[in-house]
Amino acid sequence: MRIIIKIGTSTLAHATGMLNLRKAERLVHVIADLKNAGHEIVLVSSGAIGIGAGKLHLKQRPSDVPTRQACASVGQCELMYEYDKLFGAYNHTVSQVLLTLDVVDKEERRRNAVNTLEKLLEMNVIPIINENDTVATAEIAVGDNDTLSAIVATCINADINILMSDIDGLYTADPHKDPDAKLISVVPELTEEIMALGGGSNSSQGTGGMATKLRAAQICTTHGIDMIICNGSHPSLLYDIMDGKAIGTRFIGKKENA
Ligand code: GLU
Repeated sequence: MRIIIKIGTSTLAHATGMLNLRKAERLVHVIADLKNAGHEIVLVSSGAIGIGAGKLHLKQRPSDVPTRQACASVGQCELMYEYDKLFGAYNHTVSQVLLTLDVVDKEERRRNAVNTLEKLLEMNVIPIINENDTVATAEIAVGDNDTLSAIVATCINADINILMSDIDGLYTADPHKDPDAKLISVVPELTEEIMALGGGSNSSQGTGGMATKLRAAQICTTHGIDMIICNGSHPSLLYDIMDGKAIGTRFIGKKENA
């Protein structure tokens, strides 16, 4: 299978902005094993801004654009260094791919990105994608990696897009506020009611929330690609997903467009 795995900042970093080694090591272990089993894996990893802020000893994630970009620049190095080291221990090669929104509307850029990704996969590499935060301001920014992962999934015709988040999936209400909130395990169609369940971002570190995840689901499912939201604190869920178990929330891709 060709699998896109999106990893959110809160899955990778502590609240301090420093890398969460335990979580990162477990995740890499499982992903390396899935690669060993013959799957093609593309990671879309957040964390550059958060980890950069941690490395620069900032007290919180910055809100102004230049400081965010400076943090991303520092954090992206750290992130790739760690991924390279962790995957290297399992003999896997990673590569860095930084994208902006123009892969969506500029045909030549899209073709270049797709050609690069296809070649990397053919060479058995694990591409690790992030937004190019240094240049991605306003008009060319995707803005969040949930959406970016969905765009990448459609560009390279992935079989599935898995968003590893700090929440188990989509709930009938905000589980942080409503104790009766129930996990929705399958979404056959993105109705208006489902779309209304997207609120703002709950995380102090990442930019994504349920709204961006639902937007990602819209992009994936209209292209016939299934998308799953699951909890990134339990990387072994990836094995269960591959075994066909019902994990987190699965959004079913529209097969007539597949
Ligand atoms: N590109 C941002 C980063 O690496 C993440 C965007 C997001 O959290 O969705 O920090």
